[in-house]
Amino acid sequence: MPKVVVVGAGIAGLSAGIYALKSGFDVTICESHTMPGGSCTSWRRKGYRFEGGMHWLNGSGDGKSLNRLWREVGAITGDTRVMYTDPFLVCDNNGQPVSLYRDIEKIEAHFYQTAPEDKANIRKLCRDIRRFARINIPITDIPRLKVREKKQLPLRELAGMIPALLRMGPLGNITTADYANRFRNPALRSLLSNVVGPGYDAISLFFILGCYVSGDGGYIEGGSLAMAGNMEKRFTGLGGEIRYGSPIDRALISGGRALGVSVREETVPADAVIVAADTLVAADALFDKPLEDPWVEAMRRGTDLTMNAFLCYGFEADLSGLPETAVFSLDKPLEYAGMTIGSLCFRNYARYPGYAPPGCSAVTVTLSKGDTYEYWKRAREKGEYETCKRELSDAVLSRLEAKYPAMKGKAAVRDTATPLTYERYCGTYHGSWMTRTAPGRRRVAYPCKVKGIDNVYFAGQRMMPPGGMPPALLSGRTAAQYLCRDFKREFVSP
Ligand SMILES: Cc1cc2nc3c(=O)[nH]c(=O)nc-3n(C[C@H](O)[C@H](O)[C@H](O)COP(=O)(O)OP(=O)(O)OC[C@H]3O[C@@H](n4cnc5c(N)ncnc54)[C@H](O)[C@@H]3O)c2cc1C
Repeated sequence: MPKVVVVGAGIAGLSAGIYALKSGFDVTICESHTMPGGSCTSWRRKGYRFEGGMHWLNGSGDGKSLNRLWREVGAITGDTRVMYTDPFLVCDNNGQPVSLYRDIEKIEAHFYQTAPEDKANIRKLCRDIRRFARINIPITDIPRLKVREKKQLPLRELAGMIPALLRMGPLGNITTADYANRFRNPALRSLLSNVVGPGYDAISLFFILGCYVSGDGGYIEGGSLAMAGNMEKRFTGLGGEIRYGSPIDRALISGGRALGVSVREETVPADAVIVAADTLVAADALFDKPLEDPWVEAMRRGTDLTMNAFLCYGFEADLSGLPETAVFSLDKPLEYAGMTIGSLCFRNYARYPGYAPPGCSAVTVTLSKGDTYEYWKRAREKGEYETCKRELSDAVLSRLEAKYPAMKGKAAVRDTATPLTYERYCGTYHGSWMTRTAPGRRRVAYPCKVKGIDNVYFAGQRMMPPGGMPPALLSGRTAAQYLCRDFKREFVSP
């Protein structure tokens, strides 16, 4: 069996490894960390579990084409419970709460009642959400590949997606903030610009809203680590080997072919290498000189980073009366890293078993606007990193407490992850976890290979903007397909 080495046991690496194994390759994954999952991760602190990766999963819903792939790679099994929060987002704008429900009729009625002045725009919004709810991502195969089992969507289903596809042009040219500003009601404006974040293009907004109202976008019980663990189990169950604590420092290339990789100066020979570490980092660091293919250059130029800070709090209080995901506007904006943050979004895991000791609640706050990598790097260089983290944690906590008195004085555990944290533990470029698509940018999938090296393949969320877990899964599958085609093997799904 041809021997394949995969760099990284994130979702993309595990996906590539599972499909390659099933198609008859001998696969070893080398992972720098001591556990699988990469950015799809969570961690424990003093009895609290903080979910630092997946918050919603595209493909959690039965009947979705992606669901079938998540099942193939073992991320979702017959025993998996999926949680569907409803409402999935509550926005409290200066005391005027407005919610996003999973039922589009309910959203429409609620919005009309909240903002009668926006009736025409609400009608258009709901029409577009209904259009996007019909999207079921087609699972395609690369050309000239022998595939044992094709996954084609029925024509009727493909035709049903045309109205959404036609809206992608106009929505792709504006940000979600531009879109939200069409509404006169401030609570609706705030809600809509906070679903994905104000800087993303408006396709991302509708993609997510459509996903939620179509019965998708759930949270897998056990979260990120359960999913990654399930995939690891599927991989090793098929005979794959994972070497943890094995950072790959070089792909060994000679005469236009990879001969293997080096791990802490030990050579691991291979007939092919799948690079599933962050592509932006790998393209600069894993080869004798930085890769210069036009698509790699385009990725360097076209990737907007999405990492600001991720704050975790363990409250000695039962917060199950508060919403699970909420945004609220700040009376006193948060000034930090040269930015002004006017609202906060938190997730409350009080109703999730196993996330906190009895009677207590785990809460996380994601600051996703702006790239703060250089700010944190400078803070570390000046020896002020811990102080800056504490100050940010204090500033966010004081605003949470002011808004929700049940939290006041109850924060027993705190933890703050910065871009440097994600860079250190997951090896991601500047600690960023997605590949934001700014308006006007084409959402193209990058090619899986570079010119001049026959047997190196690339997978990972960056390969398919805007990134996230489904692109990681799909790109791993695509890399395995290129591998099969080059080695003249049939592609077999688990
Ligand atoms: C706070 C947060 C919230 C998120 N929320 C969501 C969400 O709700 N929905 C969603 O779809 N996505 C979400 N994401 C994004 C999603 O988790 C990631 O985009 C996805 O998991 C990336 O997977 P990947 O396999 O491409 O890369 P990674 O997860 O980066 O995996 C790469 C792996 O390679 C390893 N590695 C790197 N370099 C080397 C090397 N030299 N040698 C060996 N191993 C190496 C790393 O340790 C890592 O394990 C979130 C991420 C974060 C951080």
